[in-house]
Amino acid sequence: MNTHILLGTNLGDREGFLKLATELIEQRVGRVTRKSPIYETQSWGYQDNDYLNQVIVCETTLSPEETLKATSRIENELGRIRDRQGYQARTIDIDILLCGNEVVDSPTLTVPHPRMQERKFVLIPMCQLDGNLMHPTINKTMNELLQQCTDNCNVKPYKQQ
Ligand code: AMP
Repeated sequence: MNTHILLGTNLGDREGFLKLATELIEQRVGRVTRKSPIYETQSWGYQDNDYLNQVIVCETTLSPEETLKATSRIENELGRIRDRQGYQARTIDIDILLCGNEVVDSPTLTVPHPRMQERKFVLIPMCQLDGNLMHPTINKTMNELLQQCTDNCNVKPYKQQ
């Protein structure tokens, strides 16, 4: 099954964390067959570093719940730091966007990711990978979802690639 995974990081060696997370996903979830370009997304809500975001596609035989277990462990291993204001700045955040056309709605996992259609930092890399890919439940393509998305976050290609 092709699983689309979003990586996000806004702390420390951001590119290094994207690479490390990708390597660990490859080892524990399955072969990483595609990677979108890296985008830099202006952080909003609180004073914070800008995020790097990237979508990777992983070919896996794990169930979505098993994939979540593996990615949660990777998140924990790469560490999370709470700053003085109590905001949680993340070295790496890993979201499962799509697991093929499977639909999962459990207390711990919702797939397709329930907010993916609201976020340009998800839809722009998804469109780079395949704008014609159909969202399994909304029944619109990634291109269509991006066109109708009203998110006004500033998402720009990350230069150092
Ligand atoms: P957050 O740290 O805000 O990304 O939330 C992580 C929690 O969201 C995890 O403990 C998961 O149980 C839950 N979750 C639900 N759906 C998803 C998903 N599609 N991808 C990643 N985490 C999910």
